[in-house]
Amino acid sequence: MIINQILGQAREESRLVLTEIEAKQVLGAAGINCTDTRLAADKAEALTLSEQIGYPVVLKVSSVDITHKSDAGGVKVNLADRAAVEKAYDEIMASCRRAVPAAVIEGVSVQPMARPGIEIIMGMIKDPSFGPVLMFGLGGIFVEVLQDVTFRIVPLQPGDAAAMIDEIKGKKLLEGFRGQEPVDTSSLVDMLLKLSAFVEKNPTIKEIDMNPVFAYREGALVVDARIILE
Ligand code: ADP
Ligand code: MG
Repeated sequence: MIINQILGQAREESRLVLTEIEAKQVLGAAGINCTDTRLAADKAEALTLSEQIGYPVVLKVSSVDITHKSDAGGVKVNLADRAAVEKAYDEIMASCRRAVPAAVIEGVSVQPMARPGIEIIMGMIKDPSFGPVLMFGLGGIFVEVLQDVTFRIVPLQPGDAAAMIDEIKGKKLLEGFRGQEPVDTSSLVDMLLKLSAFVEKNPTIKEIDMNPVFAYREGALVVDARIILE
C-alpha cells in the first residue's frame, strides 16, 4: 500500500519530512482530494510534465530542506506556456539556492493551476496531553492575522466536523459573502473525517498541514500539503 511504502521509505532514509509530492500521494491514498502533483528532476522534464498536465501550471521547489517554499522564492503560479515554465524553473532554482544554500533540491513539482476557491486550512498537531488534534480554519490572512481556527481531538465524534466548520468566526465567508460562491461544506466535513481516520491509523505522523485547501461550490481541493513524522 502506497501510504506504508512512502512512510517506510522516509524512515529508511531517517527523514522526518515528506515532500509535497509524497504528502499529497499519502493523503490522496486516504481519499483526500489533492492536485495531481508530479516531480520533475530537471527543466526538460518540467516542460514535458507541463505539456502533459496542460497549461496553466504551477512549479514549486521540491526539497525536504525547504518546507516553506514561497519564503524561499520556490513557488511560481499560473504559468501559461513553455517560455513561462523555463523562466520560472530558472528563477526558482536561483532564488532557492540563494535562500537556503545547503538545501538538497530534488527538482520541482509540477501541478495544474487550480481554480481559485475560498482558502481553508486543515491540519493535525499532537497535544502533549490530548494526543492528535485536528485543526480547521480559514486560510490566507485569516489564519495569519486573525487566527480564526478551531480544534478537535482525534477521532472526531459524529457532529464534530460540522461543529468545527460552524464555529469559526469567518463562517459567513463560507456562506457566499458579497457575491462569492457559497462553499460545499459537506465536502469539508468529508475531508475532516477522512483526515481523522487517516491520523488514527498512522500514529507515526507527528504533524500535518494542508494549507491551502480550496473550497468550492462543489468539492474541495488540497493545493499544498506538508507531513512531518515522529
Ligand atoms: P508554501 O510552501 O509557501 O506554503 P504553497 O504550495 O502553499 O507554498 O504555495 C503558495 C501559494 O501559491 C498558495 O497559498 C496558493 O495561494 C498558491 N498555489 C499553490 N499551489 C497552487 C495551485 N496548484 N493552484 C493555484 N494556486 C496555488
Ligand atoms: Mg502552503
